[in-house]
Amino acid sequence: MSNTVTSSYWSIGIDKLKAYVPGEQPQTDGWVKLNTNECPYPPSPLALQAIREATSDKLRLYPDPNGTALKATIAKHFGLSPAQVFLGNGSDEVLGHAFLGLLKHELPILYPDVTYSFYPVYCGLYGIAYRQVPLTADFAVNLADYAVPNGGIVLPNPNAPTGVALSLDTLRSLLQANRASVVVVDEAYVDFGAQSAAALIPEFDNLLVVQTLSKSRALAGLRVGFALGHPALIEGLARVKDSFNSYPLDRLALVGAQAAIEDQAYFEQITSAVVQSRDWLTAELATLGFATLPSSANFVFTHHPQHQAAWLLAQLRERRILVRHFTQARIADYLRISIGTQQECETLIAALRQIVSNPK
Ligand code: PMP
Repeated sequence: MSNTVTSSYWSIGIDKLKAYVPGEQPQTDGWVKLNTNECPYPPSPLALQAIREATSDKLRLYPDPNGTALKATIAKHFGLSPAQVFLGNGSDEVLGHAFLGLLKHELPILYPDVTYSFYPVYCGLYGIAYRQVPLTADFAVNLADYAVPNGGIVLPNPNAPTGVALSLDTLRSLLQANRASVVVVDEAYVDFGAQSAAALIPEFDNLLVVQTLSKSRALAGLRVGFALGHPALIEGLARVKDSFNSYPLDRLALVGAQAAIEDQAYFEQITSAVVQSRDWLTAELATLGFATLPSSANFVFTHHPQHQAAWLLAQLRERRILVRHFTQARIADYLRISIGTQQECETLIAALRQIVSNPK
């Protein structure tokens, strides 16, 4: 729809935008939803309680534009200062502000050829030059490829949609070799098995780490993301934010996020349940003939040598199971499957067993 309709009322360039296409959010019940990397478990009960308590007549007042209390909680959690924290309406908004505020230069920015498909969208929106750097044959980042003059580097860790992680040592080497531009590490999935680059922030004033509460804190519906970095980088982001929307986080989001970050025990419980099911699912997929990349995320990236991914997706859809497929040539054979509850993973494996053993 959005790519077929045009209008002469649009501003210059809007007809050329290639917008991001979010995964399907079904409007009916009864789906096993493994397509948008949400957490299959509910948010922390303490977060829900905080949101309920904030649902009061105070909602007539604007929220704190600076999110002071939430910033303090996040800073404490990472051993940083509040001046090193930036808040946004989901990490997509934080990333959008980072592209405009830190990554728009003469030289092109660099990011992998197979990665989060929002990056080219921000480049298109803000007119940012970019170059996609091919991952190796096994979907790894080759550091040497980034050792060229650039306007910035963006790397998700673990990468999406592959789930493959970079070590902290690799990121340190990258940062040591790249002092002249900003390196953004998008850590949407870091809590499921990778190491956060937040530990490197005191060493590198050009490092911006971006995280979200959508995955490991089970709060995709609340829309809270944040960035960590040198105060000067944070100030660049704040200038963009305050030129766009001073109140990106509402009152409910601010208190819910704070309670979720503080509930470390619950966070550990749900992330380890996801990791356990991921390992179980990966092993079961192997018994059905699937080859799965080593995942450090809350999803797996998998392919079957005998069955096309688009066909498998359609077969699963008929059984009311949603997974994600990308048409980009290099990954068109792969399915990205979010880790559900153990029960959902078992339902998926039972369906796939039937599909691959009995292809129509
Ligand atoms: N980065 C990556 C790599 C993602 O996959 C996502 C989720 N689509 C995001 C950022 C954005 O997540 P959110 O806006 O929910 O924080």
